[in-house]
Amino acid sequence: MAALLLTGGRVVDPANRLDAKTDVFISEGKITAVGTDAAKKAPRDAERMAVNGLVVCPGLIDLHVHLREPGQTSKETLATGTAAAARGGFTSVVCMPNTSPAIDNAGTVALIRERAAQQGIINVFVTGAISKGLAGEELAPIGGLKRAGVVAITDDGHCVQNNDLMRRACEYARMFDLPVMDHCQDYALVTDGVMHEGYWSTVLGLRGWPSAGEEVIVARNILLAELTGAKIHCQHLSAAGSVALLREAKKRGVPISGEACPHHFTLTDAAVAGSDKFWANDGKTLNSQLSALNLSREWPKYDTNFKMNPPLRSARDREAILEGLADGTIEVLCSDHAPHCDYEKEVEFDYAPFGITGLETELALSLMQLVHTKRLPLPDLIAKFTVNPARLLNLKKGTLSAGADADVTVFDPDAEWVFERAATASKSANNPFYGWKLKGRAVTTIVGGKIVWSEKAEAVPA
Ligand SMILES: [Zn+2]
Repeated sequence: MAALLLTGGRVVDPANRLDAKTDVFISEGKITAVGTDAAKKAPRDAERMAVNGLVVCPGLIDLHVHLREPGQTSKETLATGTAAAARGGFTSVVCMPNTSPAIDNAGTVALIRERAAQQGIINVFVTGAISKGLAGEELAPIGGLKRAGVVAITDDGHCVQNNDLMRRACEYARMFDLPVMDHCQDYALVTDGVMHEGYWSTVLGLRGWPSAGEEVIVARNILLAELTGAKIHCQHLSAAGSVALLREAKKRGVPISGEACPHHFTLTDAAVAGSDKFWANDGKTLNSQLSALNLSREWPKYDTNFKMNPPLRSARDREAILEGLADGTIEVLCSDHAPHCDYEKEVEFDYAPFGITGLETELALSLMQLVHTKRLPLPDLIAKFTVNPARLLNLKKGTLSAGADADVTVFDPDAEWVFERAATASKSANNPFYGWKLKGRAVTTIVGGKIVWSEKAEAVPA
């Protein structure tokens, strides 16, 4: 495998507390050297890439992605999903088990791992279900799933309502040293809610999904993490109360953690009422980086690309999520990339499936809302995409230490670009951010020492 020397970039490796303008030398698929002696170690025939003005960091990890295999390949495949991830700067993704059939047995885990190795262009880690068929009634074979190679268990898309069953799942997970990831939704409180319960749901006449529907399960998970000692990770947090609960529990040393997605800390429920309502108020306070181009981006009310689960919430909730990210309460950033076909989304709001794609926009939106607004230093943002998810899931990833796999992301934090629908590498196009001017973009994505995507190569049509 070719040797590659990246010279003159801002190398940020939070796992080693490194933030310096220096060089990175990669050979045989591993990180060989970082620092001033990297150039000395590189043989004369090594490929050299000048990355001055760019950030070089451990390959980004997204621990919450729906790749839709097996069974839903009209929405996404391992090939298209990993291509979208590479384009977004990601070298590893963790896929969710709510496929058809669900990933609730060792055979399906083996199938996905084998297919991902053949068809994926980046690393794919697999999660297994908590309950058989994600039905919440009977535990999945957690030990068998672990032996088959899952990195966590989750019923994402669903939520185990039976607290005793969840307790048993946590006890098994702890025995097998697996984190439990949970989509926090109390079915009795949420019923068939389709958007945040508040002013806009009343105005629009849509059924509400109250914040308490999430907070109740976050509180349940804190108690069960405390009771069982299992690591519980609360997925895609959207509500202010969830952040407060997590903050308090972490202070007491409870093994609980959380993640947030860019749509929840960028948009609000006003977006469901259409662009004029959003830009008039909540959109105005987005951030100072927001250009006039974004303000002219229009969409109608009831646009189903603003329907997700949990839903977009109030400006107060959005602020609380940002605060939670800034003070370290929420350690992980992810997309909840959830592709759906056009024909599925092009229906009345009530009937559309929840979710949006996100792999190609999450780095930019996170930079815009957290780093460009000076809420979070750049190394802290990179930690939420690298070392933090790697530690949570015990992945040997997320660092530029010598000897580590040469998964590296090179990005330009200041590049301004417009996300175009025609340009997405995902098989689906359900995304609310088309036409938005974004700031920050991946330039080169390297997996195991191999360049799997680069802006330059994409600019030249094959
Ligand atoms: Zn979910």
